[in-house]
Amino acid sequence: MVAIMKTKPAYGAELVEVDIPKPGAGEVLIKVLATSICGTDLHIYEWNEWAQTRIKPPQIMGHEVAGEVVEVGPGVEGIEVGDYVSVETHIVCGKCYACRHNRYHVCQNTKIFGVDTNGVFAEYAVVPAQNVWKNPKSIPPEYATLQEPLGNAVDTVLAGPIAGKSVLITGAGPLGLLGIAVAKASGAYPVIVSEPSEFRRELAKKVGADYVLNPFEEDVVREVMNITDGNGVDVFLEFSGAPKALEQGLQAVTPGGRVSLLGLFPGNVSIDFNNLIIFKALTVYGITGRHLWETWYTVSKLLQSGRLNIDPIITHKYKGFDKYEEAFELMRAGKTGKIVFMLK
Ligand code: NAD
Ligand code: ZN
Repeated sequence: MVAIMKTKPAYGAELVEVDIPKPGAGEVLIKVLATSICGTDLHIYEWNEWAQTRIKPPQIMGHEVAGEVVEVGPGVEGIEVGDYVSVETHIVCGKCYACRHNRYHVCQNTKIFGVDTNGVFAEYAVVPAQNVWKNPKSIPPEYATLQEPLGNAVDTVLAGPIAGKSVLITGAGPLGLLGIAVAKASGAYPVIVSEPSEFRRELAKKVGADYVLNPFEEDVVREVMNITDGNGVDVFLEFSGAPKALEQGLQAVTPGGRVSLLGLFPGNVSIDFNNLIIFKALTVYGITGRHLWETWYTVSKLLQSGRLNIDPIITHKYKGFDKYEEAFELMRAGKTGKIVFMLK
């Protein structure tokens, strides 16, 4: 089979021919129907500092997937050949303090599928059965593969009430765009998006943003105050990882409002805690991974509802992996929403 493999500890990856793997005990083999690129895959491709300490080449890349089960390993129950599935990337232990409090998303022994194991940028992939999520046939593979990042967006947007709430979303990368779609489908209004890239501001509008702002040219806080009659937004959702966006969002959110932070900052961040969080009595959520498995149920039902406007987010669909280098370079240049490889 063909696979995109990180063959060497250096920039890039290679398209290689390898044997179809065999599922061991507690594993299933899936035929990949669609798989999408995540920012993490780009970090592995670019071989950044994080990747250098975490990834052990040679390894097949990729973790976002929709596929069909073609073989079931020994001891696997409840999954059958022919099942149409996606995969939760966090492989949790089920035994640690967090897991035993049903906080699987912060398992202290989390391994990441496609980061600590071979992944799904391949025609077939072995998957731990405990991480398999069954899809209804009504969700097409190019949507089903997006459920893992959609889960991040759902946990960020739906950490508190959202219907009828005014929202500021900072960062309209793939995750922020999914966040806009979830906020709109959930009845938020107005949805204000701050994003420096014109390409992504246009995407944000297509997904349903009511207002888009360029934080490098406009005064985000003043604009938000104008739009919200001077009150500030009810909800601030941070999807950029930019320290400046965090500060602006905290200034733009209304006293007593809600904040969800998903973006990862490049290092320590300095903010005026007293005036921007404590005296404003904000509720601040750190968001990581997905709640197992509540978030997957929510994501699946949102997709089935037909109310998630995610077509504009899938900016590139490739048939097969042949053009993987072009795909990664486009993503590096920020000229993409989600990129999906179709293998059907
Ligand atoms: P991305 O880098 O593609 O998107 C970030 C966007 O923020 C870009 O479009 C960029 O132009 C924009 N931006 C930069 N500076 C800005 C500013 N000052 N104000 C507003 N926007 C600004 O990343 P992504 O794949 O969409 O992921 C979003 C963030 O979520 C990243 O920081 C990523 O590391 C993080 N992440 C966190 C988790 C988690 O579990 N917490 C999971 C996945 C990704
Ligand atoms: Zn655990």
